[in-house]
Amino acid sequence: MPTLKDREVGIFFWAEPDALATVRTLKSCGVNSGQLGVDGSVKLTPETAAAWKAALQAEDFHVYTVFAAYEGESYADIPTVERTVGFIPAATREARELRTREVIDLGAALGVKSFGCHVGCIPHDPTHPDYVAVLEMVRRIADYAASHGMSYCLETGQEPAEQLLAFFEDVARPNVKINFDPANMILYGSGEPIEAFKLLQKHVISVHGKDGDWPDAAKPGSLGTERVLGEGSVNIPKFVGTLKETGYNGPICVESGVHGEEQRWQTLSAAVKLLNSLR
Ligand code: MG
Repeated sequence: MPTLKDREVGIFFWAEPDALATVRTLKSCGVNSGQLGVDGSVKLTPETAAAWKAALQAEDFHVYTVFAAYEGESYADIPTVERTVGFIPAATREARELRTREVIDLGAALGVKSFGCHVGCIPHDPTHPDYVAVLEMVRRIADYAASHGMSYCLETGQEPAEQLLAFFEDVARPNVKINFDPANMILYGSGEPIEAFKLLQKHVISVHGKDGDWPDAAKPGSLGTERVLGEGSVNIPKFVGTLKETGYNGPICVESGVHGEEQRWQTLSAAVKLLNSLR
């Protein structure tokens, strides 16, 4: 795989059925790298891995993280996220751990060096049974990733940076890192993103280029609104300036929840241009 430039701008994309067409479309947006999201509906067969491997090789495209999302997750509002996302729901924990290993296996087959996912809303109390169960699960998954020479990125936002840092230190695995998403800090009302980045920075190996506005204070439990990059409350020029000032040299990966076939790629291309003008 080609190596990355400092603060190289890439795109987060989902594994769609036609791997080669997906990678070609990504390149037409002006990127040569990104993060591959694998949702719970993707059949992880040897044929899937072979198709992605061939597509990445043919297009000389660098995937630096595979992300997992799971069947049954919903991001409708914060109580729904708490109930359905990541490793928190006890009923799906075992199945999601198995699925996670399969996504890591796919990443390893593609030569990807990092795995990431939302672990869900971790309880504040470190003696809470869900906290203990998720901590142990994260350690097992981190060790499994390490056995493939991969790191394991925790995604930010579902808790304040101080709380994520405490959990991170409790996990105490050298290959556990952080994928920093400035918009998530805002969307979940978890704290000012630039300050949060500074607190977590030494553990951050990848960053999401995403923007959003704060939740409506009049609607408790609501999430904020994702916005087109540069039009939300992150202050993208200041955020990228902070990345440079603090010596962050890892990738910046555009993540957009904008849907609709045409608009999606246009929006991603515009976000790539904006970040390239700032990096
Ligand atoms: Mg993100």
